Amino acid sequence: MAVLKESVEGEKRVAAVPATVEKMVGAGIEVVVEGGAGVASGFPDADYRGAGAKVDTRPESTLSDGDVVLKVQRPSAQEVDRIPERAVLVAYSLQARGDAWVSEAWKRRRISAISLDLLPRIARAQSMDVLSSMANIGGYKSVLLAANALGKFFPMLMTAAGTILPAKVLVLGAGVAGLQAIATARRLGALVAAFDVRPAVKEQVESLGARFVAAEAHEGAEDARGYAKEVTGDAAKREREAILKELAQSDVCITTALVPGKKAPILLTAAMVQAMGLGSVIVDLAAEQGGNCELTEPGKDVVRHGVTILGPLNLPSTMAPQASQLYSRNVLKFLLQVFDKETKKIAVDRNDEIVRSCLIAHDGEMLQTG
Ligand code: NAD
Repeated sequence: MAVLKESVEGEKRVAAVPATVEKMVGAGIEVVVEGGAGVASGFPDADYRGAGAKVDTRPESTLSDGDVVLKVQRPSAQEVDRIPERAVLVAYSLQARGDAWVSEAWKRRRISAISLDLLPRIARAQSMDVLSSMANIGGYKSVLLAANALGKFFPMLMTAAGTILPAKVLVLGAGVAGLQAIATARRLGALVAAFDVRPAVKEQVESLGARFVAAEAHEGAEDARGYAKEVTGDAAKREREAILKELAQSDVCITTALVPGKKAPILLTAAMVQAMGLGSVIVDLAAEQGGNCELTEPGKDVVRHGVTILGPLNLPSTMAPQASQLYSRNVLKFLLQVFDKETKKIAVDRNDEIVRSCLIAHDGEMLQTG
């Protein structure tokens, strides 16, 4: 198995940390790590050697048919030829997302492409859930960014000079990232309200000490897997009206709303931003999928109508040591589940729900496009 160094600018994570390498080696997997792969996450080459891995400048050259290449980010067009033909490539997301060369590359090189973001949300795959691991980090960090940009206290303070009222935080979307944002904002002492189209999250929101804002009853707001369905037409308009009432009184709005396979829904229009007080802050965690706010510029911090709008990208990389630790544990659980001790290869068993869900290409054929 080869662990490659990430090449995308700003990506500090690594797909295996020394602790997970030790477990893989213990399970009979030979691991070769690219020199310097873990440095940006705080793991020097010596620690990988200590865990039983070899360190090499071209780890992929040691692989044979059906061996595994581990990555965090999808390989770039330049990097793709480093992945040996017929390798099993495991990464956070390998979907083409409109880049035609990606599917061509998987087919041409007969790569078995395993995109972990497509793992099913079933109990057996819970320990492999990379989406939750990374969303948790995003939710936590979004609140710290908001607190830093706000220029106001989050907690209530009673001082000799008078009382400071707590900041009011509105969280849109109470999935994994949103719930972590609620918990973090509460820990900092803010008053938190949260909004989601799925009524099922009300109890979780309230158990964290936040107020649940319900729009109208959304019959069928959730699909069979527990994900939100797209809200369109009049329902979307009414949803924005409900959000606006809360927004006008909020110091901070953290948006996390996503619908699988779609562009992020627009929950905040330019006119809604204008209704916020001067100096308010929006952190748009959906920036990577286009953003929940009309005025978000992905990857940038902008001020519009006196409101600071942050569109951070790849927040997990800003906490690389722990992000790598969590991601690599998820990867380890996946590998141990599908590793065949006799052949010492990954068993690409399309009858297994876990493999079938995240295998997007195999043996020259595209199995899923997205
Ligand atoms: P997600 O990232 O797809 O979406 C984030 C949130 O945005 C969701 O709560 C969604 O309901 C909400 N949203 C979508 N459109 C919206 C709109 N128009 N307005 C307001 N909110 C909107 O969600 P996620 O964090 O990946 O979680 C999805 C589901 O999966 C949840 O039910 C979660 O509990 C579940 N889950 C299950 C497991 C497991 O069983 N292993 C693990 C993690 C999450």
